Amino acid sequence: MTTLNETHDPARKSWIETANAANTDFPIQNLPFGVFTAPGRDARGGVAIGDMIFDIKAALEAGLFSSAATEVAKAASLPALNTFMAMPPAHVSGLRRELSDLLRTGGRAEKHKSNLLVPMNSATMKVPADIGGFTDFFTSIDHVTRATRVLRPDAPIPPSFKHLPMAYNGRASSIVASGVPVIRPQGQQGRSNGASAFAPSRMLDYELEVGIYVGAGNELGHPIPLHEARDRIFGLCLLNDWSARDIQRFESFPLGPFLGKCFATSVSPWIVTTEALAPFRVSSRKRTADDPPLHDHLSDARDQTEGGFDIALTAALETPAMRAKGDAPAPITRTNLNALYWSCAQMITHHASNGCNLEPGDLLGTGTLSGPTDESRACMLELTTGGKQPLTLPNGENRNWLEDGDAVVFNGRCNRDGAVSIGFGECRAEIAPALATALPSRL
Ligand code: CA
Repeated sequence: MTTLNETHDPARKSWIETANAANTDFPIQNLPFGVFTAPGRDARGGVAIGDMIFDIKAALEAGLFSSAATEVAKAASLPALNTFMAMPPAHVSGLRRELSDLLRTGGRAEKHKSNLLVPMNSATMKVPADIGGFTDFFTSIDHVTRATRVLRPDAPIPPSFKHLPMAYNGRASSIVASGVPVIRPQGQQGRSNGASAFAPSRMLDYELEVGIYVGAGNELGHPIPLHEARDRIFGLCLLNDWSARDIQRFESFPLGPFLGKCFATSVSPWIVTTEALAPFRVSSRKRTADDPPLHDHLSDARDQTEGGFDIALTAALETPAMRAKGDAPAPITRTNLNALYWSCAQMITHHASNGCNLEPGDLLGTGTLSGPTDESRACMLELTTGGKQPLTLPNGENRNWLEDGDAVVFNGRCNRDGAVSIGFGECRAEIAPALATALPSRL
């Protein structure tokens, strides 16, 4: 079984009162890591607690860590967390234990609180690592089934889907933190007369995914056995794989997605560690008798029994009209990470199975996390059947695809009886119009 310890104790409370609220994403049982800036503070690592950020650099300066944890805390205080992520899980766990002790009721950090706490609403969150590589998987069987039906109605799902976790290499440089606007991309799109046009995308979409940050990597040429892969996952975030369907459709055959994807990828800024997620582990999705047998390197008893995570995920849409009236974003997707056909560890092992070296801070996307139900359709392509059946929002507005000024907001939350609920915070971005300096269309 997964190891739980006193940092998961449901009875543990914090001296920061907002961390004890039932609806907070960041109780003391969570303690996710991120990188922030704030007035008077350069970019540095912090921990989310209630509506505050605990400044690890300031805590180091106050001498609050043991000698064993000081080197780990130094790595966690840097403006990119790669060195921290590369550390053995026991070191990361040791720091978590000390942070939990500092922040719990009666903890030693309280008397330094005026310098250690930064209100979240006064901080700017950054992408928390120098991401060297970004790979986006395609591991929801419900997404692949529906997307195939829309894009290629007569085609079966890709023949290799049940044999291996399919993926493409994405672009790391265009990964942005929640809150950064996404500029509507321009690109070549096919037209019905066989010509192509270069124009702003008219089929802009979101994809609700979870991001997996790689911890310790592997040496080039040396695969990662599946039983070791779970310890190579540093933690998870929310990820929006923005997709321009018209550009994607025209460019993708035969080499796969390119400019229809790499104009932007948004991530939530807090990394929820696998240790914080330990109470919410569940079995991997069961394969049916008709499915091809797993190859040995993708098969592991522990991964079968606890390779999944029960994380409830929502996507909500906020249109300019809703914003003007002060209406809350309207939920349009409700799904769960446990809908995955392949586990996160299987993605890691498959990625390294040819000897490809994963590095600390690399990011893997799970792929669109659609489940079997209508409400779990996790992108507009599925919700509107390729733009043919508009989505009607509670205020009567319709959407075939995302429009300028629309904001897409993701949330993730873990609930289980006997455990304190934790969350991921928000992954949000608003669509900005295509730039006026567009190249002229040839049509
Ligand atoms: Ca994707």
